[in-house]
Amino acid sequence: MYRTHTCGELRIQNVGEKVTLAGWVQRVRNMGGMTFIDLRDRYGITQLGFNMEVDAQICEKARKLGREFVIQIAGEVIERESKNSQMDTGEIELKVSTLEVLNASAVPPFTVDDETDGGEEIRMKYRYIDLRRNPLRKNLELRHKLAIETRKYMDALHFMEIETPYLIKSTPEGARDFVVPSRMNEGQFYALPQSPQTFKQLLMISGYDRYFQIVRCFRDEDLRADRQPEFTQIDCEMAFVEQEDILQTFEGLVRHLFKSVKGIELPEFVRMTYAEAMSKYGSDKPDLRFGMAFNELNAIAQNQGFQVFDDAELVLGICAQGAGEYSRKQLDALTDFVKRPQIGAQGLIYCKVNEDGTFKSSVDKFFSQDQLAHWANATNAKPGDLILVLAGKANKVRKQMNELRLEMGSQLGLRTSSDYRPMWVVDFPLLEWDEETQRFYAMHHPFTAPKPEHIDLLSSDPKSVNANAYDLVINGVELGGGSIRIHDRDLQAKMFEILGFSDEEAEDQFGFLMGAFKYGAPPHGGIAFGFDRLAAMFGGTDSIRDYIAFPKNNAGRDLMIDSPSKISNEQLDELNLKVIIE
Ligand code: ASP
Repeated sequence: MYRTHTCGELRIQNVGEKVTLAGWVQRVRNMGGMTFIDLRDRYGITQLGFNMEVDAQICEKARKLGREFVIQIAGEVIERESKNSQMDTGEIELKVSTLEVLNASAVPPFTVDDETDGGEEIRMKYRYIDLRRNPLRKNLELRHKLAIETRKYMDALHFMEIETPYLIKSTPEGARDFVVPSRMNEGQFYALPQSPQTFKQLLMISGYDRYFQIVRCFRDEDLRADRQPEFTQIDCEMAFVEQEDILQTFEGLVRHLFKSVKGIELPEFVRMTYAEAMSKYGSDKPDLRFGMAFNELNAIAQNQGFQVFDDAELVLGICAQGAGEYSRKQLDALTDFVKRPQIGAQGLIYCKVNEDGTFKSSVDKFFSQDQLAHWANATNAKPGDLILVLAGKANKVRKQMNELRLEMGSQLGLRTSSDYRPMWVVDFPLLEWDEETQRFYAMHHPFTAPKPEHIDLLSSDPKSVNANAYDLVINGVELGGGSIRIHDRDLQAKMFEILGFSDEEAEDQFGFLMGAFKYGAPPHGGIAFGFDRLAAMFGGTDSIRDYIAFPKNNAGRDLMIDSPSKISNEQLDELNLKVIIE
């Protein structure tokens, strides 16, 4: 037996027991005639003691051990002289009688400490060492817990976890596919699934009316800080349901996860239409931890001789409570913030409400105290508050104001990480017009059902059709999204037509689904949650990479295995791909 206990297990009650432990050498400390070793495994650290006077030979051996050596020791649990209340095993240590080196270790490229000295890149390269550190171990434990609790909840509601294939068919809709050449079918390719969408719908047609899967998805998108080319979803689908059933079922899942994993009872799940979210917060994923909703000021700010407002399609104001004290410097910094190219505002107008009820604005030349009082009224600003105003093209101003609102929320400390504000955003538009390609795209995906009362508008006014689609948003993070699906063949054909598919294209790409709709497709709908992102939110960061055991870097590379990489000419040839001659 390699070990009788783990390194996190022994307590004062075990004193006197003879035990065997195995693990990694965290550190070796020599103190006079004594040598101490911290022995580590994923359960914790146990202190080993060696006494030169009692057993010089074994003590010498211990002194030669290096960091990260794998050792096995046997010894007796004794009470420590100087106890460490910070450690679970801090009341005991082991008086070692035998020590065996199971494997030596080269000097690790960085320290295996909570605060390591290793840079990002080196830690990615040696991820297997980095994973020994507590912060990463805790992240993976959290992820595991979330997976287990998800399965428990879903199973209790009779959902079946069913696997769907990873080698599927490429379709040009949605993001870019990763493709895999088929050796046996010359010139043909599989694609890796962006999601199991069509398969889960087919499972509904097969009668598995409650499906879920914790599943890997692949999207060949340009990478952003919080994106990974492969990521995990909790993918779900139900038959014989309406939107309300889905929202209730998955509010339940999210509540269960917060309760069981974090011990948190979530507040009410606010419901907000897409239109309201956009007009009040300029975002389809508003952070509801704080107010600062937008106020349209056109009626009171235009036609007063201030050109910037008069030329604008939309004048928006927000009230930052208690920010009336902002200094010139802080206001200049805010102006610089909105003028950054990523945000792109022309400038920022402010109005402070002084403690005596008078106003001090950056446009005092154009607006009298009375007029500014209207601004305060419209934005509900009180003495001590700061009104911030942006003007310009409606869509742009909303986006810019969204950024400014979030920035002010952060600056004023309103985005507390321990506060969770869940919401459903509902009634998304079905379609999005793309100027560049001059065609409609499905806002969610082409299988999303229009609101039944809007079906008639599909031909006459497609832009105004809303979908039975919904997103789950917590604290400004989109954690999940889904929709009620089209299950009627003619409606699906109509949808493809609106999206600019010819009959042949629709048949070629989605013929299997259209065919299945002929054989008794029940009404159905579903949702998928970003599992990595969920784990990151539970862990209190937005870095999903820290919650994936072996992630890719920002360039989509795995630095540890050095992938992607070239393949040999023989392999290329076998795959019927062009042989590269070097
Ligand atoms: N398959 C969708 C997605 O990946 C989610 C859904 O509609 O269930 O976004």
